[in-house]
Amino acid sequence: MLIGIPKEIKTMENRVSMTPGAVETLVRRGHSVVVEKGAGLGSGLSDEEYVSCGAKMGSVDDAWAAEMVIKVKEPIASEYKYLREDLLLFTYLHLAADEPLTKVLLESGTTGVAYETVQLPDGSLPLLTPMSEVAGRMAAQEGALHLEKPKGGRGILVGGVPGVAPAKVMVLGGGVVGTNAAKIAAGMGAKVTIFDVNHARLQYLDDIFNGRVTTMTSTEPNIRAAVAEADLIIGAVLIPGAKAPNLVTKGMLATMKEGSVIVDVAVDQGGCVETIKPTTHSDPTYVVDGVVHYGVANMPGAVPRTSTFALVNQTLPYALQLADKGLDALRENKSLKLGLNTMKGKLTYAAVGEAFGIDV
Ligand code: NAD
Repeated sequence: MLIGIPKEIKTMENRVSMTPGAVETLVRRGHSVVVEKGAGLGSGLSDEEYVSCGAKMGSVDDAWAAEMVIKVKEPIASEYKYLREDLLLFTYLHLAADEPLTKVLLESGTTGVAYETVQLPDGSLPLLTPMSEVAGRMAAQEGALHLEKPKGGRGILVGGVPGVAPAKVMVLGGGVVGTNAAKIAAGMGAKVTIFDVNHARLQYLDDIFNGRVTTMTSTEPNIRAAVAEADLIIGAVLIPGAKAPNLVTKGMLATMKEGSVIVDVAVDQGGCVETIKPTTHSDPTYVVDGVVHYGVANMPGAVPRTSTFALVNQTLPYALQLADKGLDALRENKSLKLGLNTMKGKLTYAAVGEAFGIDV
């Protein structure tokens, strides 16, 4: 199959959908890959590296002329002209939040397979997980940075030093983001407590951390007591398909120490802290009641190289199936089939249909 890798053109997007190593795997399997010139530069991947792995470098038109186009972000308006009936598009689509794109995909007849709805039998979302892993680990790192005095924080070293106590870190939600945040915070020497409503998850976390973190049931009194003590709060809850619950209220903020820090990773779902609002990497924080708030909605964007490799590790096996078998891959792999959102002018994913009142 002829596969195209266009350069990402959404603002501040520096990831690329295939690394040179992934291109080599596709080429070895007998596929041809056209990479748009400069597509990998934002992730530190040169055109020469792609060529040495068997890619042909081309223009944006060449990349989009392929039978299957693999991207990172959903097509934006200037890319709509490339959508067509005989195109298989494999990328993040997030259609429920994007009516114009949904319409163009349907009108053009494009087959759209969305990373975010590929789902394993246990309900997990394998192509969203890598970005949650990145954001979780970054959350601890960003929290530690913003606890420093020049960044507006309390002037606390997360791990403490011999004779001086470490920071108290509270992680709300013990899923992928929360577990990764806890791992890094505990690794830095912090005293970490993870809150979750799912008891089985708390049992699992208690087992894997083996005493290095404390687990607590996520109830209002437990949270209220811990907020007053915390140096750093990391928000990482998710109720699939719903706005995040407000677990830290404005009232609780008044009990926090001056210069303590909140990193609410769940900000993309409205956040689990009442006073959080989305911020950007260029101006990531603001202060409410003396508490530093960090609400960057695309945290992995700051580490595009790591994020590119993390994403491609997970997407390549599915890309190979689509390249080898075309649409038969969807018949053979139920998890991949759940990624199918549009085909031949029809919506094929129920939640997107519900968002726009279209029957699926
Ligand atoms: P996940 O499903 O793996 O984990 C969510 C956890 O929250 C689950 O363990 C669940 O039991 C728990 N939870 C639900 N209600 C709770 C409550 N009331 N109290 C405590 N815990 C509760 O999800 P995830 O992959 O870890 O993602 C977490 C959030 O981070 C999502 O909103 C996701 O979109 C977001 N995210 C943001 C960025 C970013 O750049 N800001 C990047 C990746 C993910």
